[in-house]
Amino acid sequence: MIKKVLIANRGEIAIRIMRTCKDLGIKAVGVFSESDRDSLHVQFADEAYCIGPSESSKSYLSISRIITIAKLSKCDAIHPGYGYLSENAEFAELCDEMDIEFLGPSSNAIKNMGLKDIAKEMMKKADVPVVPGSNGILRDLNDAYRVADKVGYPVILKASSGGGGKGIRVVKDKKAMSDAFNLTKEEARKSFDNSDIYLEKYIEDFRHIEIQILGDKYGNIIQLGERDCTVQRKMQKIIEETPSPSINNSIRKKMGDAAVQAALAVNYHSAGTVEFIFDRTTENFYFMEMNTRIQVEHPITEIVNDIDLVAEQIKIAEGKQLDTNKNLGKANKFAMECRINAENPDNNFAPSVGEITRYIPPGGYGVRVDSFLYTNYKTKPFYDSLVAKVVTFGYSRKEVIDRMIRALEEFQLEGIDTNIVFNIKILKNKNFLLNNYNTNFLNEDNSEI
Ligand code: ADP
Ligand code: ADP
Ligand code: MG
Repeated sequence: MIKKVLIANRGEIAIRIMRTCKDLGIKAVGVFSESDRDSLHVQFADEAYCIGPSESSKSYLSISRIITIAKLSKCDAIHPGYGYLSENAEFAELCDEMDIEFLGPSSNAIKNMGLKDIAKEMMKKADVPVVPGSNGILRDLNDAYRVADKVGYPVILKASSGGGGKGIRVVKDKKAMSDAFNLTKEEARKSFDNSDIYLEKYIEDFRHIEIQILGDKYGNIIQLGERDCTVQRKMQKIIEETPSPSINNSIRKKMGDAAVQAALAVNYHSAGTVEFIFDRTTENFYFMEMNTRIQVEHPITEIVNDIDLVAEQIKIAEGKQLDTNKNLGKANKFAMECRINAENPDNNFAPSVGEITRYIPPGGYGVRVDSFLYTNYKTKPFYDSLVAKVVTFGYSRKEVIDRMIRALEEFQLEGIDTNIVFNIKILKNKNFLLNNYNTNFLNEDNSEI
């Protein structure tokens, strides 16, 4: 049984994990950087320890310090949250060696899904549909020309070790290939210390739809339905909803089954997400990548399935067996999340830092807020701009959207720039309401937004 967990993260996700620990009667140990002394996750923890200077590389990413604190404070598990060390196979392996439960999948599953070209080849073998493209990495420029001719332009070049939307380049036609090939390789080498790149067909009109899965340590995988994360800015999600208004039950079932196949292929346990491209023109879907961790937008899945995903991660680590006959994801509820970022939508989403002069979050029936802000708190320039997640649920898409508008209009958050008003504008946009948009929605010249 797990009695004490170290939470190797900060912000809203650290608090969210600590809350579940308390619900389960488990002690929560926090870690913080020097600039995070006054952060709310430190107050929420039963014990908290400083692990280094403000820069993440010297604190929240310091494997040795985090493991040392876990050992000294006698924790039997570590929850990595999202970002930071959550998809670091070496960290997961070290936890294992030190006899600490890593609250996530095996280091092997992280490794296999971490290299995208390898993950893609594994998915092909497991009969999970993938975007047509190269078989693994491109050998040279001629190889790129050859594959691009075969699948047809436009194509996209991707870094094998890429992530966070980096190391990706769209190639419109043959003329643009040579430069794009060299630039992407160079960027991949600089950003990820690995110049391997691969190529696939560029899908122009698609929805980002992902499936939440859970796996136990006995080879059982269940899926909990989809999340539609098509509203993105700069390839980053801002609004997520479930169910997806873009797929019918037959596609939903096929996608859920494909996600289970994907997870089985890497012998997955714990919570994970399989991301798919859903081509609006052909209605085909393709594996994009698997995120081997809890995701930012997991609360909408929790609400419609009436399940605490972090509690499941802990119970799975303790040896809980999942019942595959009880496949979830057939909920009749609707839920939506808006990410509230400290940024200025009128100035190319420039990050904003400052002192919170007023913080009154929304509430009432059907509203959940996950945040770490409080009045007089000074936000820090060193970390991610996500400051709150507002989640609403209801029994139709319209009810959920109306409730979200009500909640965001209620939200009093002063002292920093935020995208609250920008979110409201999207929610009131005609094409959003009619579900007539793709991942380029916010990149297009959209006068209503
Ligand atoms: P990351 O690890 O950076 O999230 P992904 O493989 O998930 O990388 O791709 C990031 C984004 O790039 C996707 O959300 C999507 O918007 C776009 N993208 C990826 N593959 C394709 C493709 N084949 N066609 C069109 N867009 C794509
Ligand atoms: P998801 O794919 O889970 O929706 P994202 O990929 O948008 O989420 O968010 C994960 C990213 O959040 C990480 O790559 C990192 O940049 C950032 N991040 C890491 N830790 C935190 C944190 N404590 N609070 C907010 N953002 C974080
Ligand atoms: Mg992705």
